[in-house]
Amino acid sequence: MRKKLVAGNWKMHGSLQQNAALLERIRAGVSGLACDVAVCPPYPYLGQVQGLLSGSDVAWGAQSLSEHSAGAFTGEVSAAMLVEFGCRYVLVGHSERRALYGETDVAVAAKFEAAQRAGLVPVLCVGETLAEREAGLTGDVVARQVSAILDCSGVVAMASAVVAYEPVWAIGTGLTASPEQAQAVHAAIRAQVAAMDVEVAKGLRILYGGSVKPQNAKELFGRADIDGGLIGGAALVADDFLAICLAAN
Ligand code: PEP
Repeated sequence: MRKKLVAGNWKMHGSLQQNAALLERIRAGVSGLACDVAVCPPYPYLGQVQGLLSGSDVAWGAQSLSEHSAGAFTGEVSAAMLVEFGCRYVLVGHSERRALYGETDVAVAAKFEAAQRAGLVPVLCVGETLAEREAGLTGDVVARQVSAILDCSGVVAMASAVVAYEPVWAIGTGLTASPEQAQAVHAAIRAQVAAMDVEVAKGLRILYGGSVKPQNAKELFGRADIDGGLIGGAALVADDFLAICLAAN
């Protein structure tokens, strides 16, 4: 039985004051829940988050990382630095990183490996654009994004990773994949991994992301292969995020 995970991706939002108020509510609200909960703030707030969440039931992570371990890489942050700030998770290959910063499958695979080398749990984000869905390419695109990791790190790497299926057309748009659409892609991802290792596939947590709200969370999380959610906008509103965590509980 896979434990559900709800992870909040704050993107480039927050301030010291806003974060403190939000985290106080989340920390109290998720105490004792049976699902795992995490937040991914912008880098500068990781120290604050570590201070406020240590000893709580809420884990935290970063939104990206460098594939390099150290050196002359201005503006970059290494996996070891994230570990120093207590991160458990790190997103890799979020569609905004792929689309706005040109991260390729190869770069994402290198980041995935760097995360695991440092003991972080990478949350591999995959998903198709609207044009790709309309062209009937959803399965091909997602399989290619997953293959990039399997080819580089091997299937065993998936035993200590999380996958997040996030259709690009559903992120921040208010459009959500129907539970049937999401379940179909999740099942395909699991089957792809199972073709290489059935046990790893059984244990792999596959989150859905894309306009998850309190109103649609329960139905999505009720599907056989949907093991929780990666939450953007609703992760910034304590009541909404807590309602989504409860739906996963
Ligand atoms: C995301 O950014 O990963 C995301 C799913 O955003 P939203 O929930 O706002 O669609």
